[in-house]
Amino acid sequence: MTLSLKDPSLLETRAYVNGTWVEGEARFDVFDPATGQLVASVADLDVAATARAVDAAHAAGHNWAAMTGKERAAILRRWHDLMIENADDLATILTAEMGKPWAEARGEILYGASFIEWFAEEAKRIYGDVIPGHQRDKRIMVLKQPVGVVGSITPWNFPNAMIARKVGPALAAGCTFVARPAELTPLSALAMAVLGERAGIPAGVFNVIPSTDASGVGKELCSNPKVRKITFTGSTRVGKILMEQAAGTIKKMSLELGGNAPFIVFDDADLDAAVEGAMIAKFRNNGQTCVCANRIYVQSGIYDAFAKKLKEAVRQLHVGNGFDEGVTTGPLISEAAVTKVEAHIADALDKGAEVTTGGNRTNTGGTFFAPTVLKGVTRDMLVCHEETFGPLAALVRFDTEAEVIDMANDSEFGLASYFYANDLSRVWRVAEALESGMVGVNTGLISTEVAPFGGIKQSGLGREGSKYGIEDFLELKNVCLGGI
Ligand code: ADP
Repeated sequence: MTLSLKDPSLLETRAYVNGTWVEGEARFDVFDPATGQLVASVADLDVAATARAVDAAHAAGHNWAAMTGKERAAILRRWHDLMIENADDLATILTAEMGKPWAEARGEILYGASFIEWFAEEAKRIYGDVIPGHQRDKRIMVLKQPVGVVGSITPWNFPNAMIARKVGPALAAGCTFVARPAELTPLSALAMAVLGERAGIPAGVFNVIPSTDASGVGKELCSNPKVRKITFTGSTRVGKILMEQAAGTIKKMSLELGGNAPFIVFDDADLDAAVEGAMIAKFRNNGQTCVCANRIYVQSGIYDAFAKKLKEAVRQLHVGNGFDEGVTTGPLISEAAVTKVEAHIADALDKGAEVTTGGNRTNTGGTFFAPTVLKGVTRDMLVCHEETFGPLAALVRFDTEAEVIDMANDSEFGLASYFYANDLSRVWRVAEALESGMVGVNTGLISTEVAPFGGIKQSGLGREGSKYGIEDFLELKNVCLGGI
């Protein structure tokens, strides 16, 4: 397929290593999930090329870290501005390789760019501390210094933003970066590198290595002693593998892993607001985000009214090719993704749930799936324990606050949770009781560059965004001055 781009040079298919565009040993194909058509053939880098990228990042590290925060900030700011100027083209590339509706893809570009902007500003504010001495002749200073080379592994669901959230704070802190984008969506990452080069990021500071050898490249990044930190977004399963592999060289880790977000609607909630929030929290990106609502608990007094309104809202969604006008919901990323949604529905129906809308693939073929609402879901069903990662809203009825908190926390995950309520003391109680890194109260949208994003339990380690996000890329050094 030919993409309609104002600047066709943004569709780069070579890898970017040490400030040079390079070919790999082979190439691999990237397809549009909406049509199955070939979008581009991309350089496929191997483990040896990964090691060369790490060497380049390592060699570039000294000069990059030695620059002032203001100098690094100016480059990051230019990078942000170029992303904004080219947002239409970046969105077109993103929709072509990932499938989300074009307007949503454009929203992702602005969201991704906001992290570059935020951390450009933070680059100038990496303050240490002066601690009064513990002995009369001593003074203590705490310096914050960049961790060093960062290895990054990211998924396909936000091909731009997942990298932007990591590379923004890393570069601001003075770290250098080797990015391995998901093999389904390498083009957005390469387009970011094109703009990074134009913004003046020095050679070796930001490297992008597309590769089909996920485990080989992952192992190299985790075991190479020159890499000082791994930052990963993806499944808990792979997160555990990376943590084990990185143990050999005691790397710092940031892990944004799976979620299984509860979304709770109490009797005293504003019904329309709760439905609107559930639509965003559940169906954004076609249910393919790690903070998507997975289990929707609705109190008995409001259950039927909520179920009816949600069904009506879901029926307004328009499934189709993300490039078509008016489409709200694109295809799922793969056949396996569809199979998982189908399995969750089949299991729930088996155990007594009922479909109120959707329940099947659409008749357009491919990986399009009708947005679905299930009523009568109970905690023994698969959908209450596993992340569906698809357009399936599962409604569970509950009676008391204690019961719903128990069900909500009955998970090894703890990324996001949401609830709708108006009683002030309940709002405090429930916000404190939910075991998750993020809680949306009377809102279905919690992600922003100004707030810390991340999970507890098996949902991960570390935070992205906000003033806290840069700390994950900094080491503390205690300088103890004696003999004063
Ligand atoms: P998802 O279901 O979102 O694709 P994964 O955890 O499977 O989640 O994948 C996230 C990223 O991790 C992708 O870029 C994928 O290619 C990569 N990946 C998968 N397996 C490994 C592995 N063993 N080592 C390193 N990276 C991996």
